[in-house]
Amino acid sequence: MPCTWSALRRAAAAAGLFAVVVATGPAARAEGQGDYGPVELREREAGLMKTANEYEELFLRRGFRYTEPELEEAVSRIGASLAPAPTDAYIRYRFHILRDPEVNAFALPDGQVYVNTGLLALLDNEAQLAAVLAHEVHHTAGHHAILAYRSVRRKIVTGMVLGPFTLGLSDIFLELSVLGYSRDLESEADLRGERRMVEAGYDPREMARVFEILQEDPEEERPKTSTAWSDHPALEERVTVANELTPGLLTGRDPAALRVEAAGYRRLVRRVALATVGDLAASDYPLSAVALAKRLVKEDASDPMRQLLLGDALRDLGARPETVPAAATNRAKKKNVKARARMTREEREQERLAAPGGKEHLAANLAAAAAAYRRALALDADFPEAHRGLGLALLDRGEALEAGRELVLYLKARPQADDRPLILDRLKTINETIRKGDPHDVRPSAP
Ligand SMILES: [Zn+2]
Repeated sequence: MPCTWSALRRAAAAAGLFAVVVATGPAARAEGQGDYGPVELREREAGLMKTANEYEELFLRRGFRYTEPELEEAVSRIGASLAPAPTDAYIRYRFHILRDPEVNAFALPDGQVYVNTGLLALLDNEAQLAAVLAHEVHHTAGHHAILAYRSVRRKIVTGMVLGPFTLGLSDIFLELSVLGYSRDLESEADLRGERRMVEAGYDPREMARVFEILQEDPEEERPKTSTAWSDHPALEERVTVANELTPGLLTGRDPAALRVEAAGYRRLVRRVALATVGDLAASDYPLSAVALAKRLVKEDASDPMRQLLLGDALRDLGARPETVPAAATNRAKKKNVKARARMTREEREQERLAAPGGKEHLAANLAAAAAAYRRALALDADFPEAHRGLGLALLDRGEALEAGRELVLYLKARPQADDRPLILDRLKTINETIRKGDPHDVRPSAP
């Protein structure tokens, strides 16, 4: 799991570096319309633009970028087909992917457009990606970051707390871009984006679908970080507005001739979606990981890798119920967010295990995980990671003998595995238990 941009952003937020802009709130952000003509930079803004410019290199150097040539090329091609002609020398459109399971996309005022792996993995088709990119390029084209900066500037200058990290005053364009703009500017980018989609030959009805997809909240934690792509009430409103807009846009056109491209898109994002399941689990979003893994298995149940990831994600659920009660209240969601900040992953797991039903949830998740690993092995009997997963699931279920057999198969196939010491330790525990003659009561020692 690479150090993701959102992990860094969360760390910066915890350190209070984002406090100022967040605290000024939407009311203080730029109101009204973007400016789609040339906008000359004022003295200080040229410096800020230079900082924004440097992010391109910095993100790459820090390993935040997801680099898979075929996918990068596709994102660039689709983005370029939607971007308006630049009006200023400082705008040059280029499209990149950030390896970050959080659902987001943003555009910097110099034309860098970023879409997160977590968003790519969730979309259904190319038209939806076009909707996201068409929205983002209009933030740049309308000079939204520059206008927003001018509107909040005085407050930032007087209130900014400069922290030890680079996210300081000079990163204001980045902050504004990532967190989203006023409702007005967001609506404007939606409206112009949807129009642009049609001109480029995409079905504009897919824009509303994007907002619907983003409203799904498997962790029941939203708003965790409120961005233009994650804010719930705003998303509902955007579905309505986008839907109201489409009949007009479709007038005189044959909707069947507009492009959606579902199958090709899902093939294209196969690898990034698989990586995102692991990244979600590593970021402690196991419910999102399970939801995505299930979708991937549904798309192609004959792919042993998808079965493996589903097994891993189910095992990661621990004592959490796999299906959370629908429609958690905002208060419950906030409580979830707080618990995440207050307790470690292990502490929260202990609390869940002690709660009513905790042990039953754990048993059900381990059984479901073992079943997924077995399906993976039925498809590919020599799949070492599936042996590993099955071994660990069986061990947690107290089935020592069979667990030991699976873990040995794994180590035989992967003698150089990174987790070899951990697996050897588990095998030692299993051996001791079996020697004591109680193969049905074995639990691994604490990790
Ligand atoms: Zn936006």
